[in-house]
Amino acid sequence: MATDLDVLQVAASTCVRCGLADTRTQVVFGSGRPHADLLLLGEAPGADEDRLGQPFVGRSGQLLVRLLGEELGLGRDDVYIANIAKCRPPDNRNPTRAEAESCRPWLDGQLDAVAPRVVVTFGNVPTQAMLGIRDGITKVRGSTYTVDGRRVVPTLHPAYVLRGGAAPMALLRTDLQRAGAELSAARSQAATG
Ligand code: URA
Repeated sequence: MATDLDVLQVAASTCVRCGLADTRTQVVFGSGRPHADLLLLGEAPGADEDRLGQPFVGRSGQLLVRLLGEELGLGRDDVYIANIAKCRPPDNRNPTRAEAESCRPWLDGQLDAVAPRVVVTFGNVPTQAMLGIRDGITKVRGSTYTVDGRRVVPTLHPAYVLRGGAAPMALLRTDLQRAGAELSAARSQAATG
């Protein structure tokens, strides 16, 4: 039976709400467990994602999935993965604020349908969009925020970590551990009512 998420994905596949529709190969809507407790939120598809139609399948994604296993014992099918922009910005530039805004209804639909307990945001673009702030990621990471009753854990983007070496890698690991702790806390809170 088609779920809310399936209906949304079909609708998004022909989206022309912004100019990225002109240059994309396909819409990269999202992937993973439809009612996952943990939602991973990136910035926008890159070349590999645009070609394959799945989020985080390139080098950044491989790092992310490896750390997800090592730090949380989860695989990519245990979580839901999405991006702020569902279409690849040309030359891998950041999505503009206007593009992120016009894509926002798809994300809101995903958040409603998946109803995650914890959202991890990777880098400035998803962090600023989720928290409604303009501060940079290095300023806000290291804490947990609550948005619409969901715990939001901001962290560094894996692409940044790939360029930055051991220090950012250690921070990304620490933040993923924080997300794991938040997940456990949210689940036990739900279980005890
Ligand atoms: N970077 C992102 O932010 N998202 C992807 O899907 C891939 C790379």
